[in-house]
Amino acid sequence: MDLAERAVSQPFTPHASETYKTLWAGQEGACALCGVSMPATRFDVAHATLWKKWRPTVDHVHPKSAGGSDAIGNLQLVHALCNKRKGARVSR
Ligand SMILES: [Zn+2]
Repeated sequence: MDLAERAVSQPFTPHASETYKTLWAGQEGACALCGVSMPATRFDVAHATLWKKWRPTVDHVHPKSAGGSDAIGNLQLVHALCNKRKGARVSR
């Protein structure tokens, strides 16, 4: 299971991950796809349903399915919904 899949399957933000913290700091908590800030924790949003949609998830800039790597330079944090919408397309 790779990092992105693990993030998607987790109900809460994987704050323990160094990769996650580095990405969060680099993006200042904003979604790499839509630019809107992401909730840092479940308690930043009113409902669990909203958290499921807007929680930060790790996304591969160049999809793994297209040969993308797990290097931090190929990873970005995006809303769960934006990640889903993007699918396996190449962003940027
Ligand atoms: Zn977004």
